[in-house]
Amino acid sequence: MEKIRMLNPVVEIDGDEMTRVMWAWVKEELLLPYVDLKTEYYDLHVKKRDETNDQITVQAAEAIKRWKVGVKCATITPNAERVKEYNLKKEWPSPNATIRKILDGTIFRAPIIVSNVRPAIRFWKKPIVIARHAFGDIYDAVSAKFEEGSEAELNVKGKDGKVTNYRFPKLNGSGVIEAKYNIDKSITGFAKASFNYALMVKLDLWFASKDTISKVYDARFKEIFADVYEKEFRKSFEANGLHYNYFLIDDALARAVRSEGGFVWACKNYEGDVFSDFVSTAFVGTLALMTSELMSPEGYYESEAAHGTVQRHYYRYLKGEKVSTNPTAIIYAWTRGLKRRAELDGTQDLYRFSNLLEEAVKKTIEVDKIMTQDVANVADPPVNAVVDTQTFIAAVKKNLEASLSKEGLLKA
Ligand code: NAP
Ligand code: MG
Repeated sequence: MEKIRMLNPVVEIDGDEMTRVMWAWVKEELLLPYVDLKTEYYDLHVKKRDETNDQITVQAAEAIKRWKVGVKCATITPNAERVKEYNLKKEWPSPNATIRKILDGTIFRAPIIVSNVRPAIRFWKKPIVIARHAFGDIYDAVSAKFEEGSEAELNVKGKDGKVTNYRFPKLNGSGVIEAKYNIDKSITGFAKASFNYALMVKLDLWFASKDTISKVYDARFKEIFADVYEKEFRKSFEANGLHYNYFLIDDALARAVRSEGGFVWACKNYEGDVFSDFVSTAFVGTLALMTSELMSPEGYYESEAAHGTVQRHYYRYLKGEKVSTNPTAIIYAWTRGLKRRAELDGTQDLYRFSNLLEEAVKKTIEVDKIMTQDVANVADPPVNAVVDTQTFIAAVKKNLEASLSKEGLLKA
């Protein structure tokens, strides 16, 4: 059979436990038979990271800079327990954090919408993608308790040694105090990544804060977003019929709930923390129906599943049990990475294949009503079959082959 060609490779980043097992199944059954898959492979199994003193993680991130596209399996972030379990030299840092830092990337999380898993908010029909600025604010702040009768001031010392002094209001009693910061360069990178991502998925971009109250701090974010838009993105947004909207944060939440979805919402660190869990739970109720994509200001791209390595299922799998772990987010990590590759390379068949694979997954859940346990838990009845992972993949494969041959992509 003639396979779908790829021009350039994607960086393939393998991982741990149940997701590593599913990673191999998905490749074997849904990709390798149809695509002449080109990858540059990095094994981030926790033992491999240990053996290389985590250099393999750095190399994987550098490879994404070279090839522009990576697909990543979930990986263990070692804690004390894991150090014992795998006999590791130390608690290596989170690979996702390492890669995000090297690429200066922002994470975008979106629901995978299927018609029989209905959102808790009934107006929502299209994805709401949350982008969280994962730097600064209260996550890197200085805070303290103080006693009655205290006074507070904030001193900022310049490069020339000159100190600027800001006084807090009179402190009437004992209490708590906090000072936070952010960096223009990081905010600019976040804004660029958000505009780049919105352009890639052809959705409007929202940014919201509270600049009416936070007249310097939040106002700086608003100003930088507006500036980046005018200088670098207005033209391409308008050419694609897209809009950039700034809202006050409370107004944005009300609008989001009343909307039918279909936009990217860039959030400051704290709002992103809260709203990403709110939107994912209200939309689909299972992390296995979420995509997670990383985009950098330079356009470096990585896709992965939003969930972890599904450790509990893995231990049952090791005992020989058939587990019903959902491979949907892993399949989408691949399809999104391949679509990005196809867009950069102009390989239309690869793009079509990736779309057909996504549709085959949806059809399996929506039309055949065959699903894994986590989806059956939140889906509308009827459910025709709750199946183990490999049976689910086989059902997807059947739908995929039917549409590939209908579309003339399955050439003998
Ligand atoms: P997890 O792997 O996301 O799993 C938590 C629970 O969510 C599972 O026990 C399972 O619930 C459910 N679940 C998650 N994915 C599922 C899927 N595909 N299909 C069906 N159910 C699914 O989180 P964790 O157990 O807290 O973390 C395990 C390991 O993953 C940790 O070592 C952590 O460091 C790592 N981790 C990695 C990443 C990443 O690489 N991006 C992200 C998060 C965590 P039931 O058991 O109730 O069925
Ligand atoms: Mg959170």
